[in-house]
Amino acid sequence: MEERIAVYPGTFDPITNGHLNIIERAARNFDVLYVTVLKNSSKKSLFDLEERMRLIAESTASIPNVRVESSGGLLVDYAKEKSAHVVIRGLRAVSDFEYELQIAAMNNKLDPELETFFMMTNPSYSFLSSSIVREVASYGRSVDDLVPKPVSLALKAKF
Ligand code: ADP
Repeated sequence: MEERIAVYPGTFDPITNGHLNIIERAARNFDVLYVTVLKNSSKKSLFDLEERMRLIAESTASIPNVRVESSGGLLVDYAKEKSAHVVIRGLRAVSDFEYELQIAAMNNKLDPELETFFMMTNPSYSFLSSSIVREVASYGRSVDDLVPKPVSLALKAKF
């Protein structure tokens, strides 16, 4: 049978337990899950691309079918190159919906074969975002319960 391949794209600046929860659950439902850091020129990031990839790789080391990559192109082109038929996105609250709908609609127009699957976040992470994590950590407060261990170490080194 053909391999079921999915892509979970994002900025991951840095990866949080919310992202990790989606990754763990998505990885159980696909043969291969690419976690792909998108190069976003309009966003100034705290961690550079290599650091973000390393933190994802360390945080997902125990999940054998996860592959960490980066991409600077259009998501639909990247997905095709990887033979992925599904894009995974996480939904936290109603506030995510409009933005996600817009992206999914555009991707569908660009490549109708590519499906977007939405996964509801675990309620314990519904308030969690990379930006909140960066903000709190920048004031020297602990975010240990909110991020994987490699990320909390990297944040301590940074601030
Ligand atoms: P982007 O800039 O593409 O939104 P993010 O790294 O912020 O990149 O998010 C990547 C994906 O992960 C998005 O689908 C986002 O909705 C989802 N996500 C972000 N935070 C969480 C969370 N706490 N729980 C579940 N999904 C999340």
